[in-house]
Amino acid sequence: MSNIVIAGPRGNMGKEAVKMAESTNSFTLTAVVDRKNGGMLMKDVPGMEPLNIPVFEDLEECLQRVECDILIDLTTPEHGKNHMLTAFDYGVRPVVGTTGFTDDDVHELERIAQEKKLGAIIAPNFAVGAILMMKFSQMAARYMPDVEIIEQHHDRKLDAPSGTAAKTAQLISEVRETKQQGHPEETEQITGARGADFEGLRIHSIRLPGLVAHQEVIFGGEGQTLKIRHDSMNRASFMPGVKLACEAVLNLDHLVYGLEHIIE
Ligand code: NAP
Repeated sequence: MSNIVIAGPRGNMGKEAVKMAESTNSFTLTAVVDRKNGGMLMKDVPGMEPLNIPVFEDLEECLQRVECDILIDLTTPEHGKNHMLTAFDYGVRPVVGTTGFTDDDVHELERIAQEKKLGAIIAPNFAVGAILMMKFSQMAARYMPDVEIIEQHHDRKLDAPSGTAAKTAQLISEVRETKQQGHPEETEQITGARGADFEGLRIHSIRLPGLVAHQEVIFGGEGQTLKIRHDSMNRASFMPGVKLACEAVLNLDHLVYGLEHIIE
């Protein structure tokens, strides 16, 4: 039985994670960490599940007071990083879906996990279908190196491009030479028209209400195009991946970045 604490339980992802933890026999949800409502029980907070589970505003206080093996963090990059550092201090394994960490953040967290020999998982995308989209894109880029990424998310998303788009670009860059795409003399009549430049590969970020998380990777070749597309229709689509990560993190002694390393 694993004791779980969830940070960000009022958020769209956090609400689903609470339901997942509650409905999984091998998990016990022992507390949640919210920015507000400290000292209350979840059942007394409007919008939270009717559970007799305590709400803390401070993760450190929470970890001093309740049993916790795994921290699921679904907040913001700034708080997510601090939460991970606190979790490491208490020997707790973090499973983090929060996106927007910088490379430096990830390297620092990797180093600390290594020193403490503690398992941790940061997954920019917990949807299994999205992991397959990334793997298939890497496979296709060997043969069709001209490629652009269009990612689409809801308009409350803070970071751009999405962690998934950045990760897809990185996987593609591992199998293709840096390649400046488009006309060598092309100019932007409006700044940003050609999207973000990742080693010559362009990433376009769309933000609109009504969207959840969608990505299309478009490859172009002589007389042909190939499109690899993934759509998350709701936040529940991420939960099988969160559950898988919680199970896997118990057997790790270092930080893993990306669910693709877990579902190999
Ligand atoms: P959201 O609806 O805005 O929820 C974030 C929640 O975190 C909010 O309730 C916010 O509180 C709370 N929060 C912020 N700082 C906190 C702190 N210090 N302690 C506790 N709670 C705190 O966002 P979301 O759609 O659930 O997404 C959450 C994160 O997951 C984002 O980084 C998003 O990009 C990422 N995400 C990842 C995946 C994946 O598969 N890995 C999928 C979707 C989203 P307030 O309401 O008071 O601001």
